[in-house]
Amino acid sequence: MSVKNRASLATRVIHSGQEPDSATGAVVPPLYTATTYVQDGIGKNRGYDYSRSGNPTRQRVEACLADLENAQAAFVFPSGLSAASTMLATLKPGAKIVAHEDLYGGVYRLLAQVGPAMSGCHVDLVDFCDTDALTAAAQGADLLWFETPSNPLLKIVDLSAIAKIANNVGAITVCDSTFASPCGQLPLDHGIDVVMHSATKFLGGHSDLLGGVLAVSENAIDSLAERIGYLQNALGAVMCPSDCALLLRSLRTLALRVERQTTSAAFLAEKLAASAADLGITEVIYPGLATHPGHAIAARQMSNYGALISLRLTGGLDRVERVLTATRLFHFAVSLGSVESLIQHPASLTHAAVAEEHREKISIGDDLVRLSVGCEDPADLAADLEAAFSQR
Ligand code: PLP
Repeated sequence: MSVKNRASLATRVIHSGQEPDSATGAVVPPLYTATTYVQDGIGKNRGYDYSRSGNPTRQRVEACLADLENAQAAFVFPSGLSAASTMLATLKPGAKIVAHEDLYGGVYRLLAQVGPAMSGCHVDLVDFCDTDALTAAAQGADLLWFETPSNPLLKIVDLSAIAKIANNVGAITVCDSTFASPCGQLPLDHGIDVVMHSATKFLGGHSDLLGGVLAVSENAIDSLAERIGYLQNALGAVMCPSDCALLLRSLRTLALRVERQTTSAAFLAEKLAASAADLGITEVIYPGLATHPGHAIAARQMSNYGALISLRLTGGLDRVERVLTATRLFHFAVSLGSVESLIQHPASLTHAAVAEEHREKISIGDDLVRLSVGCEDPADLAADLEAAFSQR
């Protein structure tokens, strides 16, 4: 069946890779905890020998994710960062990586600090929204790595433009699509080679599992999916079967959750922007607002504007801390994409690993807070924020 004729994403999150169990008819796929499998003879088995190399529950969740991302194959890892480090391991020693300047702090640390020490790769940080600067920096690059929307500044990168720049220089593209989920955008449809996710976020959606995903385009170089599968086994970077089952269960409600979260985020962003001065907010950053510099690109390549909102507050770090600890429904905690709303402070938490000069350069200051909008009633969330922002 062609991609265009397939059922919609809201249906596929429930059915892809989740056919009833052929042995029993169970509508929920069984959880295979076995680490080892009986061999029928030398070189003869029923598709499995050892759980790191292949597990039926993992295969189900990987099939579902490959289908959701329109990928040739998907692989699940024990965390987003292990997905990212496995992707880095596909590169030759001394490879040139050009990465977006606004990245999750842990990915920044991996690319800018750990990668160069481990494999001698060279990493340039560039604003991927500036396609002229990126075109110049991409000369000789092996890999272009970016997030859209980015963490925490919610910059929107033009997926088709990046794919074109990469094609011209023969570089592989990796889009960390954690902030969008497959319900928000499908980077592979825009010519990107690999989509990465921290499955800990929207895909898991309940703050109870760590995971990562790499999904590879059928247009990526021939051996890439095979190489990632090889490295997943060789490095031992596999998601455990019980987390695979939990992730599969969570995916069933992904479309519902993301629809609710993104509708509520749009409502809250408009509301906060309308009364920003009264609430002591100097900037509301949300790709759905017409004032956002990436709004037109987001409208073109996304199906919604996401569930993350970043804000700049007046009053210095003392007031920021009062606000962070005053919300009752928005928990003051890192992470995002879950059913419960969260508020956090990038400069001291998710981006503490980013070199101070780089944080200053891209304006991740003490005044910045990031909201992840959950599935609660949006009116209750608005009231919670208004009460907290009245802290002066
Ligand atoms: N990518 C993004 C955009 C993230 O926000 C995170 C974590 O916050 C990661 C990757 C890393 O994922 P994990 O924490 O699952 O290792």
